[in-house]
Amino acid sequence: MKCDTCGKDVTKVKRIVLEKGYDRTQARAIYNCEECYKKKEANIEKSVHGKVKEKGESK
Ligand SMILES: [Zn+2]
Repeated sequence: MKCDTCGKDVTKVKRIVLEKGYDRTQARAIYNCEECYKKKEANIEKSVHGKVKEKGESK
């Protein structure tokens, strides 16, 4: 699989669904390698204050 951010081929990617709350048209899934995932996650938390985590995850 390929990382959507850096384009690197990796065996394992993480799927990130950008928060749909603020704009539905922007909601889409992207696949990131571990490294990019961490960066993205940090960015998301900064921009929406962790709102992305509030639903969809069973725990
Ligand atoms: Zn990457």
